[in-house]
Amino acid sequence: MTLTDLKGIGPKTEKLFNKLGIFTIQDLLYFFPNTYLNYDQPVPIEAINEGEIQAVKGIVEKDASVINLHGLNMTTVYIHDISGKMKLTWFNAPFLRNTLKSGSVFVFMGKTGTYKGQKTMNQPKIFTPQDYSGKTGTLEPVYSQVKGLSNTAILKAVRQVLEIAEYRPDFIPSAIRYNRGLLDMKAAISGIHLPKSMDDFRKARERLAYNELFLFSLALVKKKNSTEELKSAFLIKKSKRIDEFIKALPFSLTEGQKQAVSDIRSDMSSGFIMNRLLQGDVGSGKTIVSFIACLEAALNGHQAAIMAPTEILASQHYDKLKKIIDDNVFGLNVVLITGSLKASEKKQAYLKIKSHEADIIIGTHALFQDAVEYDDLALVVTDEQHRFGVNQRKTLSGKGKNPHTLVMSATPIPRTLAILLYADMQVSQIKELPSNRLPIKNAVVNTDYRKNAYKFIYDEIKKGRQAYIICPMVEENDMLDLENVTDYVTKLRKVFPKEVSIEKLHGKMKPKEKDAVMDRFLHKEIDILVSTTVVEVGVDVPNSTVMMVENAERFGLAQLHQLRGRVGRSGYQSYCIFVDSADSKKSKERLQILASSNDGFHIAEEDLKLRGPGDIFGIRQSGALDFNIADIYQDKELLKKASEDAVYVLRSDPELNEEENQVLRSRLELYLEESYVL
Ligand code: ADP
Ligand code: MG
Repeated sequence: MTLTDLKGIGPKTEKLFNKLGIFTIQDLLYFFPNTYLNYDQPVPIEAINEGEIQAVKGIVEKDASVINLHGLNMTTVYIHDISGKMKLTWFNAPFLRNTLKSGSVFVFMGKTGTYKGQKTMNQPKIFTPQDYSGKTGTLEPVYSQVKGLSNTAILKAVRQVLEIAEYRPDFIPSAIRYNRGLLDMKAAISGIHLPKSMDDFRKARERLAYNELFLFSLALVKKKNSTEELKSAFLIKKSKRIDEFIKALPFSLTEGQKQAVSDIRSDMSSGFIMNRLLQGDVGSGKTIVSFIACLEAALNGHQAAIMAPTEILASQHYDKLKKIIDDNVFGLNVVLITGSLKASEKKQAYLKIKSHEADIIIGTHALFQDAVEYDDLALVVTDEQHRFGVNQRKTLSGKGKNPHTLVMSATPIPRTLAILLYADMQVSQIKELPSNRLPIKNAVVNTDYRKNAYKFIYDEIKKGRQAYIICPMVEENDMLDLENVTDYVTKLRKVFPKEVSIEKLHGKMKPKEKDAVMDRFLHKEIDILVSTTVVEVGVDVPNSTVMMVENAERFGLAQLHQLRGRVGRSGYQSYCIFVDSADSKKSKERLQILASSNDGFHIAEEDLKLRGPGDIFGIRQSGALDFNIADIYQDKELLKKASEDAVYVLRSDPELNEEENQVLRSRLELYLEESYVL
């Protein structure tokens, strides 16, 4: 069965689904909502919680009035209930005049606010009381969208698929499912798309998260069992040239960097396989440490590879390392491999790798495609490890004869979690930032502050600095009232004088286009970069001093901290402006944690305290291992259970040979082969 077999999907619509990454029925089943609209009981007008999406039920006081204001058509109506009065407005919806008649009663749902003491709602949805009570208590899924494909159309397709879907035998052993009280997959999948209640949703989410955490834990335990204290084929001796190189650096290494370099060098020369995690907050200078390791491996006559999570980051590393090698006359060759190379370029690069003409290879996960053969791969560095799963590391390691591995992460993981997530590794930590840094100045503001922010940014630009502005969406989405990169650039160009260069960057652009924009930003040809979170990890443009995040309430704190890490990378004073559009007490409290501290560990701990289990609405925590559903912070307890279960299963049946573990075994094999999706 294919997508076009579904009602409402012809070849044209199918293309739109493809754009969302949905090619098969199976893909559609696993295309989960981003968030849900919550049809709660209407609240009394006086009792609204400013900034939240809520419903009120009220009587229309007078027929709606429609006026034209600065070219905008605005419809206004006043409603009241027994507790109070409220003003509702809509843009470009004059036809509402026919519905909103004096004395009629409706339920209005939208984001609540107050303006000059008056309770307000902008653009609320309108329901008859009957329609609304039919929906009360339910959750309506909200999916990612592309232009031309509405949420309703996606939902319609999903409903059909849920009816006919067949599920493979469950890979979680039944004893575990029973013991942990997990839903079966049919219930979980339909519960995540169409939850009947919050509780329903939580159970569904728990099952799906457990799947990911259990497979992850199994892979981890297996890896640990197989690599402990293994002898290494690569004895990488400490070289004088590296000592000299470190001395000649334009800055002196921090204590943490020195310790990490020393840990790595003694690991690699120990005769055993290195398996080390280098953890350090954003901007702590992990890159140079990894370069030192690669250079040493290459000077010893071996090959080393660095894997980065994005093309932008890979090419940035490539440029930097190439410059270092040229400046220091190391006489080594670096090669860059990304998915966007032309076939002929790829072939050339592969040849260089196989013939060992290439000493250091930098790239995205394209590094471990089957076609890439290494001559003598002794060291694999994975940058921003949280973007990859254990399986990826394994695949790349499989390219050599068990090379040394160095994994770098900026994710500030509390100790209790680190023990579960990095059970198989030694850890080096960089605890301080380079000494030339000034602490970033932070502000949490509401949308009224934008004007000031733009003026502030303009002043920085006049001083020769640059700025990032982050929006959560690429394009407009008719279900979510969030800032998007495309419209924002247009808007901003009208605000700033012509000589200010403003460009956009997002994940839907072609890799070549992204590279070009990043390159121009790095070379100061762009003053303001309006971007999605594609710049979240690793990007290093030290001249930029302002990070402004729109809809900051939509992001996880760890993610915001990562974004903030894009500035404050030089001796210039840097600033971070979090625009809180929800402007609710809860969101303020959360963002205030960020504003009051620049310490990633402190933020992670506070974040943990604030969010209860199952509290994911709207905000997805990125930062740590990039699971699809699971979130290591929120699912800390579940991870603990999954990892206990994994240890238990493998202890009693190490090779998963027993009858009852057959399904699990093949699922795990698949998991270990999958290129990079956890
Ligand atoms: P991250 O740990 O986030 O990957 P980077 O390695 O990108 O950080 O380093 C951030 C910036 O700090 C880079 O521009 C780098 O050149 C610079 N840097 C690294 N180490 C030092 C140091 N010891 N002193 C001064 N600047 C440093
Ligand atoms: Mg980095």
